[in-house]
Amino acid sequence: MKRTLTFALLLILSAGLFAQNHFPLVADHYQLELSFDFPKETLKGRCQMTILNQSDSAITQIPLLLYRLLKVNSVKNSDGDELKFAQSVVQFEDRTKLQANHILVDYEIPPHESKVIHIDYGGHLLGYTETGWRYVTDRISPEFTLIRMDTYAYPLISQPSISFLINNLRQHLFNYDIVVTVPDTLVVANGGRLQSRTPAPDNQMTYHYSSKKPAWRIDIAISPYSQLNTEVLHIFYLNDEKSAMRIAESGANAMQQYTQWWGGLQSPEAVTIIETEKNSGGQADELVILLPEESFSNINNFHNLYHELAHLWHVFIRENEGISPRWEEGLADFSAYLINETLYEERAGLVKRAANNNLRRLKRDFERNPALQNIPLMDYGNHRLTNLSYVQPMVMFSVLYYWVGEEVFHNTIGGFYQEYIETGASTKDFINYWKLMAASVNLNGFFEDWIYTPRFAEFVMEEKSFDDILEYYINSTQQ
Ligand SMILES: [Zn+2]
Repeated sequence: MKRTLTFALLLILSAGLFAQNHFPLVADHYQLELSFDFPKETLKGRCQMTILNQSDSAITQIPLLLYRLLKVNSVKNSDGDELKFAQSVVQFEDRTKLQANHILVDYEIPPHESKVIHIDYGGHLLGYTETGWRYVTDRISPEFTLIRMDTYAYPLISQPSISFLINNLRQHLFNYDIVVTVPDTLVVANGGRLQSRTPAPDNQMTYHYSSKKPAWRIDIAISPYSQLNTEVLHIFYLNDEKSAMRIAESGANAMQQYTQWWGGLQSPEAVTIIETEKNSGGQADELVILLPEESFSNINNFHNLYHELAHLWHVFIRENEGISPRWEEGLADFSAYLINETLYEERAGLVKRAANNNLRRLKRDFERNPALQNIPLMDYGNHRLTNLSYVQPMVMFSVLYYWVGEEVFHNTIGGFYQEYIETGASTKDFINYWKLMAASVNLNGFFEDWIYTPRFAEFVMEEKSFDDILEYYINSTQQ
């Protein structure tokens, strides 16, 4: 549901987005220190941000966002000098029910240089349910506290505009260190590497985590968590130990299967799963999955887990021009269905059923917005249509799988990972790799239809079934 809402919103915004493309300032590193006053329901934050200017000219003002009830007390440079800033609670340009504290810091960052600023802030966190984001119920409470990007609980570089913010976050990944102090009856959960856990005065405990990989968001959950750690998964769970054990087992089985298909990971890192409060919405970064209680305890729904684990084998896709279309989302979704089908006999036929569902979903979207029929997958990033990146490429990869066969398919996905994991690659590199590995079929027309042109939309609008489409390509090679 949430996906659909965001999708609609992105469509409306996509026209205006290009103009704001590539705001030059991006966060390169966060050092975030947090402590809480639970009776007063307040937090205190000290945020040291390293900000990079990616442009050829100096930038003299840094725009920041914070949650509407969080106030900045001071901003300093790395020498400890106070910087001039203004703050005011404003309405978002593109979502008028949404308010945030908009902070403008006067500070010059020379071209292609980075500067450090220290932001001292604090206040309340009461969610954003009034905006229609029913899942954002974040608050400060000893039962459950969630600090995340969705509420702007830490400073983010942006003007008060969702499209601006999403655009900026997607531009550049950052590393982070978080230092969080809580009463020692509580546990701080985060997807980074735990560097230390040190007792602090007044029966408190300070947790220091560092990001394992560059990220686009920071998620910190605080609760009386229990933990279950395996080689593959670090699980923070609230009460449901049985589900935690099932998730651990299921994750291990999936990892074993993926490894058999695609070969071992070059630098294996455990994936962290954090159970969150009921109805608080799921989220996933590369190595962190937030699973709300209702998903966590629903043992039949491992799709998200399998999807995230599949991403571990994905090369970072960077286009020479434009924004990545993120077809790896469709690949992860395809892989999650395939794992389900492989591990559970009773789920035979799942991939094809899901592909047919996705074809119907595309048709509905195309009917609602006919302009989408003319946009090739390659432009999904440029048009901010990456919600479709879960749907269209899932069908594409399913066709490929049944067309070239299991062995060639897995050798290609695994081989591409081994070949490009260090350097990253472009979509073009991926296609060339496919042509090399699957030389027995002619993939030229196929990638034209599904990646570079919107030809695939004709199949969609003609209501072709998955098997029809598969047969079309099998026959095309034979002619
Ligand atoms: Zn994904």
